[in-house]
Amino acid sequence: MFVSNLHIKSFIKIFLIFFLVTFLVPVNSWSQSKEVVALKGDGIYRLLTRYGLSSAQYMDDFIALNKSNLGRNNSLLAGVKYKLPDTAKLPATSAATSITPSKGTGKMVHYDIFGSKYADIEIKSNDLKGAVYYLVGGHGGPDPGAVGKYNGYHVYEDEYAYDVTLRLAKNLIAEGATVYLITRDKNDGIRDDYSLKADKDEVCYPNLQIPLNQTRRLRQRTEAVNNLYKKHKGSFQRMIAVHVDSRSRNENIDIFFYHDKRSETGEKACKILRDTIEKKYHEHQPNRGYTGTVSTRNLYVVRNTWPTAVFIELGNMNHQRDVKRLVIPSNRQAVANWLTFGLITDYKTNK
Ligand SMILES: [Zn+2]
Repeated sequence: MFVSNLHIKSFIKIFLIFFLVTFLVPVNSWSQSKEVVALKGDGIYRLLTRYGLSSAQYMDDFIALNKSNLGRNNSLLAGVKYKLPDTAKLPATSAATSITPSKGTGKMVHYDIFGSKYADIEIKSNDLKGAVYYLVGGHGGPDPGAVGKYNGYHVYEDEYAYDVTLRLAKNLIAEGATVYLITRDKNDGIRDDYSLKADKDEVCYPNLQIPLNQTRRLRQRTEAVNNLYKKHKGSFQRMIAVHVDSRSRNENIDIFFYHDKRSETGEKACKILRDTIEKKYHEHQPNRGYTGTVSTRNLYVVRNTWPTAVFIELGNMNHQRDVKRLVIPSNRQAVANWLTFGLITDYKTNK
């Protein structure tokens, strides 16, 4: 999405950053950068955090400053000295992000990916203007994910997670956000059916075939997110992965959340989402109760994507009540709406 605008926007941004760096930052500020030594197990994220620098703001600068001393995939080498980015350079980032054009309330946009019935979206508000979301529907391509059963038919995780992801994407766009669908299916669109037919033609943004090998599949979507993250450097950014749990030993039911153990913002965002869902259930089904949890889990995509990551399990494939919530289209819409409310609160609280 936003492919047409993106090139122009990123060109302007790169030009602006180049201009500001070239003319406004004293040339000798690079040589004054503080040097620190990487410890065993350090990544850029951990090192920056240790010295009180936000990885969201300084990741790119760090990589640019230390390019010649980085290992594969920008890893750090223990014992090697690295330069910390000069914090005085921060205004360049703010200037670059302030040029994002305003969308304006009441504007209509059109994206074929939502399917003919939902392709036209009205921008209702600017509540999420400035926020960038990477929505990753779980699995896809050759991998259907977990498989449940409902009334005799199969319920494939990737199809249902994708449908909720699309509904969430549409909602976020309507509130003024910039949204990237990382897992994409050009002919599915939002589907108002109980039974969602399984196919294998999902691709990874922008249009990459999804490999069967799990490590390669996760690395592919992580790289897609991280490449876009660099283009939106300085903006409020979230990676949202949407799944359905199936680990039978796991007691978790309802909608629950995982964040990276190093990410305080991730934990905050998850808690806001959890509390929003609890409140909504309480409003709509006062006697139902809600047991959704927030916890950490060592998940590849959560650990390796650069934006603050939120991993959502829409329920447990082994619990009939959860599966029923997934197969009813209006329930999938309600879940997307509630998540949208939560993400608006997250943006207002943490931006
Ligand atoms: Zn999954």
